[in-house]
Amino acid sequence: MRPFRACLAGVCLLLASISAGRGAELESTLVQIGLARVDITPSYAVRLTGYGSRTNEAGGTDQQLWAKALAIGEGPAAVVVITVDNLGIPAEMTEEVARRLDKRFGLKRERLAICASHTHYAPALTGMAKLILKDLTAEQSERIARYSAELTDAFERVAAEALESRRPGRLGWCEGRVGFAGNRRTLVDGLWKANAQNPEGLVDHSLPTLVARDPDGKLRGVLVNYACHCTTINANDNKYCGDWAGFAQETIERSHPGTIAMVAIGCGADANPYPRGTLDLARDHGQEIAREVDRLLEEKQLPLGAVTAAAEESFDLPFAKLPTRAQWEERAKQKGPIATHAQAQLARLDRGEQLPQTLPYRVETWDFGGELAMIFLPGEVTVEYALRLKREHAGKRLWVSGYSNDEPCYIASRRLIGEGGYEVESSMWYYDRPTHFAPEVEDMIVGAVERILPEAYRLAREQPVKRWQAEIEKLDAKQPGGRAPEGSIVFVGSSTIRRWDLLKSFPDLPVVNHGFGGSQYADAVYFLKPLVEDAQPSTVVLYDGDNDLAAGKPVEQVAADAIAMIYRTRLAVPEARIIVLSVKPSPKRRALVDAQRKLNAMLEGYVITRGDKRLSYVDVGALLLGSEGEPRSDLFVADQLHLNDQGYALWAEKLRPILAQSTPPGGRNSNRE
Ligand SMILES: [Zn+2]
Repeated sequence: MRPFRACLAGVCLLLASISAGRGAELESTLVQIGLARVDITPSYAVRLTGYGSRTNEAGGTDQQLWAKALAIGEGPAAVVVITVDNLGIPAEMTEEVARRLDKRFGLKRERLAICASHTHYAPALTGMAKLILKDLTAEQSERIARYSAELTDAFERVAAEALESRRPGRLGWCEGRVGFAGNRRTLVDGLWKANAQNPEGLVDHSLPTLVARDPDGKLRGVLVNYACHCTTINANDNKYCGDWAGFAQETIERSHPGTIAMVAIGCGADANPYPRGTLDLARDHGQEIAREVDRLLEEKQLPLGAVTAAAEESFDLPFAKLPTRAQWEERAKQKGPIATHAQAQLARLDRGEQLPQTLPYRVETWDFGGELAMIFLPGEVTVEYALRLKREHAGKRLWVSGYSNDEPCYIASRRLIGEGGYEVESSMWYYDRPTHFAPEVEDMIVGAVERILPEAYRLAREQPVKRWQAEIEKLDAKQPGGRAPEGSIVFVGSSTIRRWDLLKSFPDLPVVNHGFGGSQYADAVYFLKPLVEDAQPSTVVLYDGDNDLAAGKPVEQVAADAIAMIYRTRLAVPEARIIVLSVKPSPKRRALVDAQRKLNAMLEGYVITRGDKRLSYVDVGALLLGSEGEPRSDLFVADQLHLNDQGYALWAEKLRPILAQSTPPGGRNSNRE
């Protein structure tokens, strides 16, 4: 296993790129955005790939093919996502494009993603799904190599154009739903039976959509992600075409002239578009995506900044036990793809080569400041990967693309491997893999994603929920109706908040204590609804970060989690005042003083650059320091970590005028609509 590289230093760049001077409106900050597209339809005939039945080169063009690029951010924080009308891009090609972009623009490998639409009506590429191309001639092979080289150049060109055309814009995202993807695995007695629509089977109908606009709101482009095979058209059609993904792009660009529409594919390996079989149906499905995009564009998108962290991890996926030589020989006597595949393996053995026991695999993630994580998985990934990742990791804040950066074969989930069938076993023949995967690949892939995703996304795991659920349910037990009165001043945070007798400190203010002991910023984000949203407070006071640092989290990570909390709070209560308290120094955590200072500086910097008049940062740490700059032990209880009455009195004195100013008598916020 190669150690993964992760860059969290981008948080500082995020802070630097945030524009100041606006009010608390839910507008995204300005970010550098560039978009470009390049026509990649070959001017000559090339073999199409995706269906094993074809033997002739393409006989015309139903639709132009495109490579498109979206560049986001600047300097080392820039990322580029390329979408392409093709079955899939081999890793070698992605690596070559990455090398060129690193050389020209300093773009690091984990900051590039190439996402294929998986259309079955685009040219075959050298090194991709070799055994699917029946009766391949030397001339056909040559033209495939020519197109592969031209496509590599086109990727470099389109990425360069996107990077070079960057200008300030706004980025947002939202999620819609489109229903034409249907599960295509029918089962009998728990085993795979046939490739046909299974209305009971799992699907992912979400349509996460990234929206790029000019600062004045004018649309510049969209990137959508949908989990479905790009195989509507009849398999006998042998012409260039983008299928539904191509028609979705075409329709969106036609209704929004001057924009660039991009389509990536989710974990749709076990889903087909239904109904299917004609070019018109492909157009219908594309138009359905475009209609949903139009609807989404009318609604509010969640604002995003630049990518704050990009990370990757490479590892090897184990195959199941390989067949014996005798078994290969038996298979080689049969007919069709199973025989072709067995003959290829026997030829390897005859040359004295070993058959591979594992397949190299690589996952990549991009974090938009705790707001959205994009996950790029190579291969034809089945739907349970996306459903599991979303279930276990912060749900709707995840964007999962398959067919990304490489297409080594199908990537079946554990349950599917038990059921067998096309996506598990027989599809491996076309990809020239020796056999199906071992069932543990699902945990390995999910585990790798989990390791490189920032902590802020690991919120839905069972443990933290169980740990605090009961405490949070009891928070407002004594309040009328069991919830904090609307318009109150809600203090959210760890035990430093929980232990504070707020009514004693602020007898004249509608204060409510939502502290829960031992918590960190990521926990507060998870419980945002009961802590903040349900109360609709006039003011939210946030105190966390103390335990986060004590738990050994890097400062940049804690800052990202804190920013996620501030940001989510702003979305939940658009009119409320948000007061972020500095992390306090304490005699017990003296060793963390540098980390605390750095975190406080980042939080203060974020608050200042955000330019939100109802967001403020209050330094409550300086009050606790003695003349030597050391925390005064006489202000702490015996554990030398938590404040005593005298310590809280100093905080109350500092906060009282600020709180009184923000809260009209009665605690009602007169600005609320
Ligand atoms: Zn496929």
